[in-house]
Amino acid sequence: MLNLFVAKLRPPNLSSTGMPHGGIAKSRQGTRSYRGTQFKRSSMIRIECVGCCDTVLPLDCLQASCDHYFCEGCVVTLAGICVKDESSFPMKCCKQPLKSSDVTPFLDQNLRMLYAAACLEFGTPAGERVYCPQPKCSAFLGSAVAGPRSHQLAGATLTCQNCRIAVCTGCKEEAHSGEDCEENKEMQATRKLAEERNWKSCPKCRAIVEKTEGCNHMVCRCTEEFLLQMWGPMETKNM
Ligand SMILES: [Zn+2]
Ligand SMILES: [Zn+2]
Ligand SMILES: [Zn+2]
Ligand SMILES: [Zn+2]
Ligand SMILES: [Zn+2]
Ligand SMILES: [Zn+2]
Repeated sequence: MLNLFVAKLRPPNLSSTGMPHGGIAKSRQGTRSYRGTQFKRSSMIRIECVGCCDTVLPLDCLQASCDHYFCEGCVVTLAGICVKDESSFPMKCCKQPLKSSDVTPFLDQNLRMLYAAACLEFGTPAGERVYCPQPKCSAFLGSAVAGPRSHQLAGATLTCQNCRIAVCTGCKEEAHSGEDCEENKEMQATRKLAEERNWKSCPKCRAIVEKTEGCNHMVCRCTEEFLLQMWGPMETKNM
């Protein structure tokens, strides 16, 4: 098991000296040369990274609560895996989760944002997660039950910052008024079906009307007649 773990994580850029990153290691504060400080550092104790088995300075590592160390490269690799794969989240050693405050100093700005987003999403129970209902977006918006009590009342919404739409935390569809969540769910399902089958909705009452005959005049149950081609209500003629 450990061997598999090591093989997966071993970074490809080991130099001939056996040092990671060609002998230059990025510290948490910036870049730092091993060679430049070799004299002082050679006397310092070195430990083994549990991810890649490289010998590294504890100073440059993440120390887990089980007293195992992860080098910077392994922290970055693991974080990159766990932001994409919920089964790898949270990062653990010896079954103990690593503190995100210990992890984030090793990450660049982009990965840090992804990691923070993963903490929010994966930290929310699956049944309570609200996602943007737009299929092309699907952004995680938050928890349906988190927040002050007023947010748990019917009609609470979360807003997708990408699409600028409000989403109902009850039915997790686009925010709605009037219909309750059950009715809205059915309505959204019908609208999706209508789009697939190219049905049209009446411009007056929004009821969905299926075009069954050859001509483009349609008459809704509300007696509104409209012209499919022009897509708008028309004067009701003597029928
Ligand atoms: Zn490592
Ligand atoms: Zn451990
Ligand atoms: Zn969206
Ligand atoms: Zn709803
Ligand atoms: Zn109608
Ligand atoms: Zn006609």
